[in-house]
Amino acid sequence: MEFKSQNKNITNLLKFINESEGSNKLEIAENIMVSPAALTKISKKLLKDDILLEKKYIDEKNRKKNLLVINYDRFFSIGVLIEKNFTKIILTNLKNDVLGEDTFENNYSGDFEKYLVVLLEFINKIVEKCNVLPEKVLGVGVVVTNEFMVKKSLDLFKEDKFLTLKKEISKKFMGYVFVETEIRAEALYRAFLEPVYKNFFLVKYGEKRGSAIIIDNKLVNPAISHYRSMGTRHFIVEPNSEIYCEICKKKGCFDTMVSPKNIFEEILKENNYSARVENLYKNMSFEEFIKRAESGEITECKSLRKIARYIAILMINHNNLLPLDTFLLSGRIFKSSLFLSYLKMYLQEFQLGEVHEKLIVLEKKLVKEELIASFLPINYIFYNYNFQESSEE
Ligand SMILES: [Zn+2]
Repeated sequence: MEFKSQNKNITNLLKFINESEGSNKLEIAENIMVSPAALTKISKKLLKDDILLEKKYIDEKNRKKNLLVINYDRFFSIGVLIEKNFTKIILTNLKNDVLGEDTFENNYSGDFEKYLVVLLEFINKIVEKCNVLPEKVLGVGVVVTNEFMVKKSLDLFKEDKFLTLKKEISKKFMGYVFVETEIRAEALYRAFLEPVYKNFFLVKYGEKRGSAIIIDNKLVNPAISHYRSMGTRHFIVEPNSEIYCEICKKKGCFDTMVSPKNIFEEILKENNYSARVENLYKNMSFEEFIKRAESGEITECKSLRKIARYIAILMINHNNLLPLDTFLLSGRIFKSSLFLSYLKMYLQEFQLGEVHEKLIVLEKKLVKEELIASFLPINYIFYNYNFQESSEE
């Protein structure tokens, strides 16, 4: 099944009503640009399906009005966030409000099938606890963090390991399973929450690192590779590097080259430090590292410049391939004016163009980052109107 929008007008209508927290037909028709006749037809169908509700109210001029609102409790979504050491499961309504949550420790010892059995148990438990009918569950969004992939399982990629889960879920619930990496799921949720950003490249550099591309509010799939199903595309930024990546098995990929672990190791390799200084670096947090660079430590500045250069290469290459109008930068490092000036310097050096003018440093984190998982089914099934026949009756 393709998870593209089944009906653009319905998608636009649902998104508009959600954003405006309810709206009347005149406003909706103007904003999503459909004729009043077409709108009447769509809203009639959605009212009949119980997806929209009609709320009567009296406006400031004492006229009776009808407000169309989304019935957020019509369906539910399940989000699964697989962190390094634990898995968090949440159940939300269509507004992505959390109705219930649970966590279990990842007692994962290479046996992914076993892990999925436990996961499925917890999913069933939370659905029962929240008194949600199985046929009202839109699907399960699974977000796998990089930390889990590296630490726990590389063979997660070798075949579609989630097949068991997908089969079991579709047996029990009406829904589907969507699997994404953390940064991509975050980019998709951001595009929804902040629709001003339509075509963007999100670069995250902090405790978590990675990048994702959104074109026209949709995630762009990475180039074809055997990691495709997971959306993991690692871009080579340093072909002369000797270091192979644990995830993509390529030499000098972006994800490896900019990892703090690698940065620290390189510093130690290049300098012949005493055991005391070596220890200092081994225990240094990245926050401390940035502060030392800002206060003028040469070694740290050199490393920051290196990271800036790799990020600039990544951005320039994507800018050449795709119609991007914004580069969203997320993470502590971008709040360093020293680092930003390095980044802009490299961007201008590599391309006599406008890329350095398209940078936007994101000020705030997503309100609740764990909601990125449960948003996947809401996005692909609800907003794209991909309901199965049975639910439309
Ligand atoms: Zn890699």
